[in-house]
Amino acid sequence: MSDQQPLVLVVNSGSSSVKFKLLPADGSSPLLSGIAESLCTSGPARLIVRQNGERFTEELTSTGHQNALRAILSLVKSNGWIKRVRAVGHRVVHGGERFTESARITPEVIRNIEACTDFAPLHNAANLLGIRACSELLPSIPQVAVFDTAFHQTMPVEAFTYAIPQRFYRDHGIRRYGFHGTSFRYVSERAVELLGLDPDDHGLVIVHLGNGASACAVRNGKSCDTTMGFTPLEGLVMGTRSGDLDIGAAAQIGRVAQLNLAGVEALLNRDSGLLGISELSSDFRTLEDAADFGDQSAELALDVFTHRVVRYIGALATSLTRFDGVIFTGGIGENSARLREMVLNRLRAFSFVLHAQTNRRMVGGACGRIDRGSHTQAWVIPTDEEAMIARDAIRIAGLHQQGLLRAA
Ligand code: ADP
Repeated sequence: MSDQQPLVLVVNSGSSSVKFKLLPADGSSPLLSGIAESLCTSGPARLIVRQNGERFTEELTSTGHQNALRAILSLVKSNGWIKRVRAVGHRVVHGGERFTESARITPEVIRNIEACTDFAPLHNAANLLGIRACSELLPSIPQVAVFDTAFHQTMPVEAFTYAIPQRFYRDHGIRRYGFHGTSFRYVSERAVELLGLDPDDHGLVIVHLGNGASACAVRNGKSCDTTMGFTPLEGLVMGTRSGDLDIGAAAQIGRVAQLNLAGVEALLNRDSGLLGISELSSDFRTLEDAADFGDQSAELALDVFTHRVVRYIGALATSLTRFDGVIFTGGIGENSARLREMVLNRLRAFSFVLHAQTNRRMVGGACGRIDRGSHTQAWVIPTDEEAMIARDAIRIAGLHQQGLLRAA
């Protein structure tokens, strides 16, 4: 990598933390990454940094997003990199129907992100804190917003419409939006390259399985259906989210536990999923270990999780005109050979035959095919949302046109 390469700062600003990565524009490894956390609590905020394979922690003297970003930028400066930062890419959770692709941040774009805040109050407000702080600290550097929802704006109306009185859609925007779009876009582009598919004629089901989990049907590079809905609560079982649930069951929970709607929503978001079933942990690896020691609740949690993944792979395949591959990604999808084996074994109707040895080797960022030559292939492809955000920031900031990048 040339030490003249322009750099892109990728910022993922959450309600009490800011994650960041400083990436060279030629796609090589990050120079710096980390997280500033505990930004809104009374305890001390701290900055955890990874640089050259080492990890160090700095206590921050004051809280708040702007101070965190100031500390991150002073680290960039002290390494002599600040003049090479040519764009900042921000993750924004909800773009509603207003954003079908990433956008350069302008006052109008900020107004439109604010207008979507009702859909994801905690997330979008936190994302805006990061955008405002960076715009003030780096006023002459282009800022780009990359939306979790944008990739799914290609879903057909029958896939995004809820069967509710349509005035709620017309007046309040209540419909399926879908999330994890940046991950699905990255992985689907990698899959086209790796599986040697025709960009204009292919079909994939991608399962992104992490603490948050969702699946997406991708037809010719475009999302045509996905499991998350108006919020990230719908669909697959997740670490602490229930995924799909009969609203009648939710109403009964409210009655028996004397919870109002917000209380039920919090219970389904924070106390349910793998944690709720196992009554032990939301962490998949912990549950695998517990199941190995005979913990039946942990085993049940893994089985319910797997059942839901299998069910949705089958359902999403019906949105495709051809079915080239199932792709596993996210912390669980990329690392749990056991989950992948359980899923493919239960997908026998699609004639998958697992290659057990290669499946076991696909951990810790490895990428490869894990079936034995089935018609529909099964792959593990690690996601890289920050790389995708950086790529969009480079394109939208016009770094290619300015001749700042080497030809690929
Ligand atoms: P997030 O949605 O927060 O980005 P990740 O994609 O990092 O989450 O995924 C976290 C999940 O991945 C956790 O449930 C964790 O237990 C699981 N995981 C990570 N490594 C392994 C592993 N080696 N085996 C099984 N599960 C793993």
